[in-house]
Amino acid sequence: MRFEDQRAILIEELKLNSISDPDILAAFAKIPREDYVLPQFREYAYRNQPLPLNLGQTISQPLMIAQMMSILKLCSSDRVLEIGTGSGYQTALLASVVDEVCTVELYDQLSLNAQKVLKAAGFKNIYFRIGDGWQGWQKAYPAYKEFNKIIVSAAADEIPMRLTEQLAEGGIMVVPVGDSHQQILNVITKKHGELEIRQDCPCAFVPLIKKGK
Ligand code: SAH
Repeated sequence: MRFEDQRAILIEELKLNSISDPDILAAFAKIPREDYVLPQFREYAYRNQPLPLNLGQTISQPLMIAQMMSILKLCSSDRVLEIGTGSGYQTALLASVVDEVCTVELYDQLSLNAQKVLKAAGFKNIYFRIGDGWQGWQKAYPAYKEFNKIIVSAAADEIPMRLTEQLAEGGIMVVPVGDSHQQILNVITKKHGELEIRQDCPCAFVPLIKKGK
């Protein structure tokens, strides 16, 4: 089956799983996941599952990405911070919906590869940083201090407080929190300077690596 037909089936699967935001569905309809997976996994690109990337990492499951994007209530004027660029697939989806995406990846090999694919795809609203995601967007260009939305696509063993400091007033952050066996998607909102933390659903991500561990 042609990739575009497989992509259409994936969209139907997302709809059956309660993803209804037209902007999110349009993003999934636009971004070719086959361009972001390793060449040997292209034929599996539209299975609704994570797939291996280099360095023991994974490209996230499409439904999980769609659920996280829904929780973030994205608007076109948002500036989003993404932790864990990985393949760049989720970065592309986010950058199709919002104004600007700043994305942080620990491994230069993964970031540089994602940069190549995303630039070839024509994105001009994505900024990249190679470094430790626990620190968020620091010593990076543009020198933004705050983000309307923050999405962490690796599992943290505790809520990354440096990231909550970079969440703007009224902002929303999603972050999987737990160990390698059990994680819960945490949804954090900032209201009048206070954090509200809600536990959403169980999830499975690779760990958000702590430097020095
Ligand atoms: N959204 C990506 C998910 C990749 S998996 C995709 O769909 O392709 C999680 C990513 O987080 C991996 O690329 C991993 O290298 C990265 N990562 C792990 N620990 C990190 C850290 N401390 N800082 C930044 N990135 C990290």
